[in-house]
Amino acid sequence: EVNLRYVAGIGAVNGGAVMICFEDITEREQAGLMRRDFVANVSHELRTPLTALMGFIETLRGPARNDANARDRFLTIMEGEANRMNRLVGDLLSLNRVESEERVRPKERIDLAAQLESTIKSLEPLASNGGVSLHLEAPATPVEIPADPDQIQQVFTNLIENAVKYGGSDARVVVTPVERDRALRAPAVRVQVIDNGPGIDPVHLPRLTERFYRADSHRSREMGGTGLGLAIVKHIINRHRGRLRVESELGKGAVFTVILPQ
Ligand code: ADP
Repeated sequence: EVNLRYVAGIGAVNGGAVMICFEDITEREQAGLMRRDFVANVSHELRTPLTALMGFIETLRGPARNDANARDRFLTIMEGEANRMNRLVGDLLSLNRVESEERVRPKERIDLAAQLESTIKSLEPLASNGGVSLHLEAPATPVEIPADPDQIQQVFTNLIENAVKYGGSDARVVVTPVERDRALRAPAVRVQVIDNGPGIDPVHLPRLTERFYRADSHRSREMGGTGLGLAIVKHIINRHRGRLRVESELGKGAVFTVILPQ
């Protein structure tokens, strides 16, 4: 694959000819660009809550020193900002781990349906807080796959949390064993996380699993999102030799489909 970067302008050359210059970006150069982008993004994401914390510390030392009401209010906000930083660092560590383990294939076999049941149970409080009802539709018999249980838990925690955070009143998780998946050419399990929320504009779909990419930045930050959830999901699914598909339209909810080989 050749990646071209535009490096020169268009102009008149020798009385009329037009010249456009492109430069080939080698893979190494591209990796370097991506790393710099990533470091810039991380710094920005960390600096935002840090700046807020520093501002509040200053206010607490100065103007709000003797105001007990303001102190309580500010401490609550500061706690929120510290939690945001903590989540971000946690997600960065998770991402780092799954990226570096991508070539190792999990050997343990797990019952996916049972695992999803416990994942959903642990998310029940979050869902009922947000007024969202969560349902699992799975076969009554075990659905076994080779998988890393903690990582699979993380995949579905992230997807179901998103369905609760960004979705509507209803989120469903549907598990369907597939005798022979067309793309994988093997027996597989399909898990769909379906919500009835406002959905995602299709223009965002190709980039949705990029680190720090957000379709609705304001809503993501309001909900305490780090922008790393789907990047982590994608790497874990790759590691399991699976596939992730996202389908959505504005106003029509979203469907995240995970296919995992059996
Ligand atoms: P975040 O931490 O921001 O939730 P993610 O990587 O999990 O980051 O998701 C990336 C973006 O995809 C989110 O910011 C949100 O805009 C969009 N998104 C993810 N899931 C849904 C969904 N079920 N409905 C609508 N938008 C979604």
